[in-house]
Amino acid sequence: MEGGIRVFELYSGIGGMHFALKKVGISFEVIASVDINPAAQHVYKSNFPSTTYWEKNIEGLKAPDLDKLNIDLLVMSPPCQPFTRIGLQKDILDPRTRSFLHLLKIFEQMTNPPDYILLENVKGFETSKTHEIMCKTLKALQYSWQEFLLSPKQLGIPNSRLRYFFLAKRRPKCWDQTWHSQDKIIECPSSMDKECGENASNIVPLPSTTATIGQYLEESEVISELRLPPNVAKRYLPVMDLVTKDSNGSMCFTKSYGKYVEGTGSILNMAGDNEELDLRYFSPREIANLMGFPKEFHFPDNVTNNQKNKLLGNSLNVEVVSYLLSILLT
Ligand code: SAH
Repeated sequence: MEGGIRVFELYSGIGGMHFALKKVGISFEVIASVDINPAAQHVYKSNFPSTTYWEKNIEGLKAPDLDKLNIDLLVMSPPCQPFTRIGLQKDILDPRTRSFLHLLKIFEQMTNPPDYILLENVKGFETSKTHEIMCKTLKALQYSWQEFLLSPKQLGIPNSRLRYFFLAKRRPKCWDQTWHSQDKIIECPSSMDKECGENASNIVPLPSTTATIGQYLEESEVISELRLPPNVAKRYLPVMDLVTKDSNGSMCFTKSYGKYVEGTGSILNMAGDNEELDLRYFSPREIANLMGFPKEFHFPDNVTNNQKNKLLGNSLNVEVVSYLLSILLT
């Protein structure tokens, strides 16, 4: 593919997919990136100023628009709220699913559908009606796929973020049939090494140990701004997930981190053994580190911590996606 793989990035948020592509080390070009949210756009454009950005509703896209782009790889994270296990699971009836169903419709009308697709969503998507429609549509268009349920923890990163991933190739591109049977969700990368046998060459080796939280912390953070107010610390202590710099894990950081304490992400105890608790939030930069965002990733100046946490909470683990992209593309 001359000039690199042509990538179309939908529901691009702050560009987790774009950073993951950079990490794979292949030659690629994001030909266009689409998201309707101005806050996400602000961050995306600051990080990727030269990428063509469409701030528009995906429901308005048409098949000829996409055909013209000559897409090799489509990456996307459609809204996950309709499928979360703690949500209402309204699935196809949720208005937030509309744009994805629209996309599947225009896929059927395209003369030049992409060779590769990578989709990210929450656990719960794989049992949805939307998933069923997606598979039916893509099967008719000669795609074959592999599905994964993976958490960064499995790649040695001390953070949980279990997500569903769908990797598809369009004929004549196909999966090595000796690898995995379609319709089996892969939940354990180490079992892939085994099952791959002599075809293991495209599987990135997994680390044998998990890193500690300390490796993701930033020395220069202004701690006073991150400390939990004493009344909050006291009141919510029983429901907090406390970790230290030596911990090998942390909870998934959600978009409400910093606003609510319970179930939104871990709290860091900076005190040593036998000392009184000294609690603070992780900073957005530290959360970005745990989510695999590279050093060059940044937020523009005027974004508040709540906005940062919200955008990060909607984003993805860059390392996990880059691992999957290398399986899909190499
Ligand atoms: N993977 C992204 C985040 C995806 S979250 C990242 O790395 O940050 C889903 C995104 O889809 C949100 O940013 C939301 O603004 C966008 N979105 C939802 N519905 C949309 C629609 N109909 N058209 C365009 N963008 C939409």
